[in-house]
Formats: sequence, C-alpha cells, structure tokens
Amino acid sequence: MKEELKALGEEAKKLIEKSSNIDEINNIRVEYLGKKGKLKNILRTLGKLSPEERKELGQLANRIKEELEDLLKEKTQFLKKKALEEELQKNRIDITLPSHWIETGSSHPVISTLIDISETFVAMGFSIAEGPEIEKEEYNFDMLNIPKDHPARDMQDTFFLNNGEILRTHTSPVQIRTMLKQKPPIAIIAPGRVYRKDADPTHSPMFHQIEGLLVDKDVTFRDLKGILKIFLESVFGKEIKIRFRPSYFPFTEPSAEVDIGCTVCGGSGCRVCKGTGWLEILGCGMVDPEVFKAVGIDPEEYTGFAFGLGIERIAMLRYRITDIRLLFTGDMRFNHQFKGIR
Ligand SMILES: [Zn+2]
Repeated sequence: MKEELKALGEEAKKLIEKSSNIDEINNIRVEYLGKKGKLKNILRTLGKLSPEERKELGQLANRIKEELEDLLKEKTQFLKKKALEEELQKNRIDITLPSHWIETGSSHPVISTLIDISETFVAMGFSIAEGPEIEKEEYNFDMLNIPKDHPARDMQDTFFLNNGEILRTHTSPVQIRTMLKQKPPIAIIAPGRVYRKDADPTHSPMFHQIEGLLVDKDVTFRDLKGILKIFLESVFGKEIKIRFRPSYFPFTEPSAEVDIGCTVCGGSGCRVCKGTGWLEILGCGMVDPEVFKAVGIDPEEYTGFAFGLGIERIAMLRYRITDIRLLFTGDMRFNHQFKGIR
C-alpha cells in the first residue's frame, strides 16, 4: 500500500510536469486530489489496517497530498504568467516607432479673407444675404439699371446658359432679391462666387465678391465713407491712406472708386501699384433712384449706398500673392503656406 501511494504520487508529479495549460492542471487536481480522486480511494481502504500502519500511511498520504498541492499551485502560477507574457508579446506596441502623419486642415486664404471681411460688417450690424449663382438676366442687369443696349453689358463678358439664364457677373442681384422681399431699413452684405469671361494673372473666370447695401431714411455719402473707412482700416491696418475717385456704375449715382495707399511700397511707387502709389480696392456709390423704382422702394423717402469688392484682390494684397491663378490650382505647396492664418 505504501508503494502504491508513492507510485501514485510520482505519477501525478510527472503529469503536473508535462501539463501545458490551466485546464490540464485542474483535471489533474480533480483526478488525484478530488473527493472521488485516486488518493481518497486508497485512503478509504485504510480501515482494514492496524492503527500503527494506518497512522504511518495517513501521514504519508498527507505529505503526498501537500506536495502535490504545492506543485499544482506552482505550475498554475507559472502557466498564468506564461499566458500573460504571450498575450503582452502578441499585442506589443513599439512606442519608438514614428506615429502616422495626420494632415490638419486650414482655411484657404480667399475664405479666411472673406470671413474676416464679413465679420467686420456683421460687427457693424450688417446681416449676411445670399443668392443663386445661376441668375436671371433681369436681376443681374435690367433691374440694376443696365438695360439690354447698355454698354455695361459689353463691359461684363457674361456666361450665358442655354435656358436664357446666366452665371451672375456680380453679387449685385442679391441686392435686388433682398429689396424685393424686405422693406427698409436694410443693411446687408452679400458674399459669393461670380463669373466672367476673363483669365490672366489678375483675373479669374470665377472669383469671389462681397457686396454691401444699406437703405434707410437720410443715408448719405458721408455714411458710406465712414463705413468703408472702418472696414478698410480693420482689414489693412489703421495707418492706411484712403481716397475716393469719381467713377461710373449704372446702379449707383454718384459713384466712386476707392483706392488705398499701396501696402507694398507705402506710396513711393512699385510694380504692384504700377508706380502710382495707389491700389484700387472697391467700387461704391449711392443707390440709383432707378434701382429703387425697379424694386418698389420710394426714392423720395429712402436713400442708400452700395459697394462691391473682389475678395481675391484683397487676399492677394494681404498675403502678397502676385498671380491670382495660384489661389485656384489647389497646389498644396501653396496652400500650406497659409496654415494658421485663421
Ligand atoms: Zn506700390
């Protein structure tokens, strides 16, 4: 019986040694040390022996049991540690590897300029109005006092669509649309894309304009000058020189073009200002009474001013860009230079 116990112990030890996972360990524990296990089975036969033999074998059985329990515990810990190490190895992250490059976006110089200008006017109480880029000739020309035979229609080389509509040549039709549905007082700016058959280093067939319109009682040219001064100083800085030159637009009377002192040479003359020391920035004037009549506003009761400018022109001056086409090629080497400007 003693030999039997020892053999059982050795057998279990070998199995524990060979075992390679926790399930096997648990099976060994049940098979040898469990309530119906092999060790218990042997001990159940002890009753037939003498008290001395019983004592001796009982002690032996306990030693074997304790020994096996220690081995099982040890092996379990070993296997758990091994499993953990394998898991860590499998999901190993090399923190010294360079990370993926994530490209961050930023505003295009035209859009950031457009937003800056819009914010300046919104701060002065203007609201933003929008209109369609495919426009009725009536709104783009006729109601702005540009009749069919008017030379201004030749001045603007227009894209005509097959259905008789056009791609708007300026944002001014938004003024018409606004005045048709809203009674004064009106204070809007209308930013958006416009289209003309023009393409050279300073002209693009598609460009952005921003138009302003203010209609109320007793609006004067002085108000126009004040508003434009605030706007130009906020875009180009307080030290800017401003001048108004008489001009002609069909939809304003009187009309003026506004120049600022050249931001590149400071007025001494350079390539950008073509040696004049001045840069043309925008066109403006008092709304022509004919335009008010076309939209059903009484020109005896109300007066107003309007102005319009090209966003690309402003962006080119702000960022010293010499070719307008750079703004539209989508060349990332160019675009990346404007990261963080807004
Ligand atoms: Zn200059």
